Amino acid sequence: MDNRPVRVLLVDDDEDDYILTRDWFSEMEGANFELEWVSSYETAVDAIALHQHDVYLLDYRLGDRTGLELLHEAIANGCKAPIILLTGQGDHDVDVEAMKAGAADYLDKSQIGVPLLERSIRYAIERKRAEQKIGEQAALLDVTTDAILVRDLEHKILFWNKGAERLYGWKTGEAIGKNANELLYKEISPELQAALKTIFEEGEWQGELHQVAKDGKEIIVESRWTLVCNELKQPKSILTVNTDITEKKQLESQFLRAQRLESIGTLASGIAHDLNNVLAPILMSAQLLELQLQDEYSHRLLPLIIDNAKRGANLVKQVLSFARGVEGKFSMLQVEPLVSEIKQIVQQTFPKYIDIDINIAKHLDMVRGDATQLHQVLMNLCVNARDAMPNGGTLTISATNLLIDENYTRRNLDARIGSYVVITIADTGTGMPPEILDRIFEPFFTTKEIGKGTGLGLSTVLGIIKSHGGFVKVDSELGKGTQFKIFLPTAGKSKMQQMEDVELPLGHGEVILVVDDEAAIRDVTKTSLETYNYKAMTASDGIEAVTLYAEHRQEISVVLADMMMPFMDGLTTIRTLQKIEPQVKIVAVSGLVSEDKLSQVRHAGVKTFLSKPYTTQELLTTLHEVLQAK
Ligand code: ADP
Ligand code: MG
Repeated sequence: MDNRPVRVLLVDDDEDDYILTRDWFSEMEGANFELEWVSSYETAVDAIALHQHDVYLLDYRLGDRTGLELLHEAIANGCKAPIILLTGQGDHDVDVEAMKAGAADYLDKSQIGVPLLERSIRYAIERKRAEQKIGEQAALLDVTTDAILVRDLEHKILFWNKGAERLYGWKTGEAIGKNANELLYKEISPELQAALKTIFEEGEWQGELHQVAKDGKEIIVESRWTLVCNELKQPKSILTVNTDITEKKQLESQFLRAQRLESIGTLASGIAHDLNNVLAPILMSAQLLELQLQDEYSHRLLPLIIDNAKRGANLVKQVLSFARGVEGKFSMLQVEPLVSEIKQIVQQTFPKYIDIDINIAKHLDMVRGDATQLHQVLMNLCVNARDAMPNGGTLTISATNLLIDENYTRRNLDARIGSYVVITIADTGTGMPPEILDRIFEPFFTTKEIGKGTGLGLSTVLGIIKSHGGFVKVDSELGKGTQFKIFLPTAGKSKMQQMEDVELPLGHGEVILVVDDEAAIRDVTKTSLETYNYKAMTASDGIEAVTLYAEHRQEISVVLADMMMPFMDGLTTIRTLQKIEPQVKIVAVSGLVSEDKLSQVRHAGVKTFLSKPYTTQELLTTLHEVLQAK
């Protein structure tokens, strides 16, 4: 601590009293106090406003004002230093009021002596310091992200920090005085009951609690409770520190579910394999017998055996598709036609009491996938939706592009950063309780009557979507309906391209002839074109280009020609192509071409230029323009 003297200001309208007090101070040996004096109420107000003193001593009688009034005014003006009121003998009402108003102490003037005065001043200063420290600690409590609250033994909230405001959404003013058990819980759960019991028996408790925030959102917290006692060791309040673990818990349960499905898959694939070995000889033998046995009896029974063996084999195939994933014939697919096809089937075959609503965003990205398998996925989901709406309802199929960012992947184990097409199949049917929702992807899990469901629909959906590099999400509310979302990664684009993806004009399968002497540029351009639904042919020089064009002029829609090439340069190539077909559509690709050469090209009738290096977007937009032009 510094050795600065403690500055004391005495406010007293009686000079004799000042002299007396000064003498007392001079008797305090080694106390290091510095006494100053003002004699009027007004000068005192100004002096206190400067906040320069460590302690104030106010006499009660100050002309026609009182020290009590001055005390009120000083505190209202933000005085932080301790104030000691000097009162007359037996003026107990004044004493009490002074303490209520925030005085650090009061001293009976008739009894003041050196030791009493010195002790009072020292205590006052120490107490102020302690208060400030507590204030600083309280501020620290607000910095932490944990929610900290204190409740009395009736569970009335006494303290509520900033972390609690953030976690629960209730402001301090709203929370104080409320019953914690009513504010934070939907109901008194067994865990909460255990906590309430343990805290009184053992003085502390620790565990997980399910709580609810102001907006109704459910949260899970790791909670630590401590019983706080007063000086007499009697319980006085409960201190609670809560850490939000909602996100962590969700990830954990996703992980457990994934693991369970995996082990079921392993088990199922083992059985499926054996079952195949059982079914194969049955099927083959029955087919052989069918050829040999011509009697009526065999004629009736053998097809039954064959049919059922085939059905069995089919089930086995589905189980295997879940366990091992499926191999498919993957190609670039547009989602729109796929959904339209499903819509037709559904409209024709589903009962009329089910309304069908289709909602597809414009410019959906392409995905890489097996059309037959995705078809099966959508059918399975639609059939489930139909089964969930025996009394009618609405089936909604929608599709949209979605960019998944890091924020999303942190919450979902299966998601990766990048762009996806999301297809949503929603119904307004029965919905599912959590214990069923938890198991629906297991093979053979069904709630339907025997003969109505195999329990393989959703496990097949999951197997197929996984083999497409995607994932599935479900939301369901009992009595309200269910929503399945399938996420398919979009095809063939780099992360960077996806990020900058502004709606690029797609091709319609037109053939583009790419002429460039640089292999790398030919390759990249070809890939870009194919990604965006064009077809590409490539030529490495003018001569090859002309040969190809002569052969395929009916198919080729546009020629993308580099201007700087060896052997036959761009200009000559263009002129030769124009001889074969005067209407040929050409985009001239220019790198470092002289202005004079460019004007020659322009002169030859070429209107569209693309300068190297070009982005995919520039390439696509340019092609789009050329193809539109008459
Ligand atoms: P199945 O349809 O043969 O029962 P699935 O794997 O397709 O097998 O579905 C498993 C279970 O999931 C169903 O039996 C049903 O309980 C539940 N389920 C699936 N989709 C829905 C839905 N849209 N609404 C309500 N429950 C559903
Ligand atoms: Mg089903």
